[in-house]
Amino acid sequence: MADGSVVTDLAPSVAAQERPATSPRGRGFDPYAVRAQFPILSRQVNGKPLVYLDNAASAQKPRAVIDALVATMEGGYANVHRGLHTLSNEATEAFEKAREIVARFLNAESAEQVVWTKGGTEAINLVANGLGLSIQPGDEILVSEMEHHSNIVPWHFLRERRGAVLKWIPVLDDGSLDMAAYADLLSPKTRMVAVTHMSNVLGTINPVAEITRLAHAAGAPDSRIKVLIDGCQGAVHATPDVQAIGCDFYVLTGHKLFGPTGIGALYGKAEALEALPPYQGGGEMIETVEMDRVTYARPPHRFEAGTPPILEAIGLGVALEWLAQYDRASVQTHEHSLYQHAVDRLQGQNWLRILGQAEGKGAILTFAVEGAHAHDVAQIMDRYGVAVRAGQHCAEPLAKRMGVTSSTRASFALYNTMEDADAFVDALIKARNFFV
Ligand SMILES: *Cc1c(COP(=O)(O)O)cnc(C)c1O
Repeated sequence: MADGSVVTDLAPSVAAQERPATSPRGRGFDPYAVRAQFPILSRQVNGKPLVYLDNAASAQKPRAVIDALVATMEGGYANVHRGLHTLSNEATEAFEKAREIVARFLNAESAEQVVWTKGGTEAINLVANGLGLSIQPGDEILVSEMEHHSNIVPWHFLRERRGAVLKWIPVLDDGSLDMAAYADLLSPKTRMVAVTHMSNVLGTINPVAEITRLAHAAGAPDSRIKVLIDGCQGAVHATPDVQAIGCDFYVLTGHKLFGPTGIGALYGKAEALEALPPYQGGGEMIETVEMDRVTYARPPHRFEAGTPPILEAIGLGVALEWLAQYDRASVQTHEHSLYQHAVDRLQGQNWLRILGQAEGKGAILTFAVEGAHAHDVAQIMDRYGVAVRAGQHCAEPLAKRMGVTSSTRASFALYNTMEDADAFVDALIKARNFFV
């Protein structure tokens, strides 16, 4: 495989085409100015400039977040809520301000509805664990075939431990949810509908407001069906307006939102959080502890046992404030233009199968290469500095549904450019040529 192998049967690269509106000198959103704020994006990998397209697994961090973490550790760090000295008060203030930022980001009614967790996974486990205590054998939990394992396995626990029945909302061939089948699956036994806002594999953006409306309309008045939306991708690439969606719970994870790892958040409607039993026991989550009884703090603190991820929460707040300077619709348009450019250049390549072509999908390009294992494809692309993910992407039932054992995924973020999209296509073609 020669490094300079020329690809002749493809549509021209962007360099040969007219510059899109997102070029450095174009109007509006400027990905080059965004990019300049991410130190890691200027490094090299295997002697090539890094082309980071593994954003659906984790996003890189802007200078603002890196600096805020350092500044907090250097100048304003102590444990929170234990009060009575200046540093603790400052840290508490920054920590609670970050909670307010998350609440604003989600358009929650109040910051009291935002529970800190260590990530999306813990947020879903927190809800499943609490709901599980009142699950009766035969109660039904609806999940979709496109869920991440984080939104499957906690519900499997309730199947194994409480006799719950998992029902699967089918995925259609184009990667959208079968909404008619979903409506039929709702029954008087349904207790929970747990669905992703956006698929981390297919890029599908689900009609979560409609999903929620149907679930709430189907439940008995005395036991409304709860709806949990997994927003780990949707919070980044769709519109995470919890009031517009109407869901009972919404989950996000910080590290995909340009914040640190080890931090996530659970939004809950006030009455949904109030009705949820505590998850872990320890300091900070109690009101009183005696030898023969214990009473719990009100949400959100009821769900935050122990010392919380203080620095991580502050870092996530800074990341969301940083993100807020960009117009969401412009970012989505930009990301989609990169996705579309790659798809257009790959048009007609009959060795390539793209998974997920749903109307209005986000900028995730997952594909199978005929005759090549996804891991090999990803490893060859890495030689050209292109970082992509390969495997089942924590969504094994979906891989089965789509009839693939593994696939490769390129996922775009606001700091990616047309040059990245071109480098991706070029590296993919070179990888493919390796197998023919
Ligand atoms: C990443 C992801 C998760 C899990 O988030 P963690 O940060 O690993 O806890 C859950 N669901 C979806 C759709 C994801 O993309």
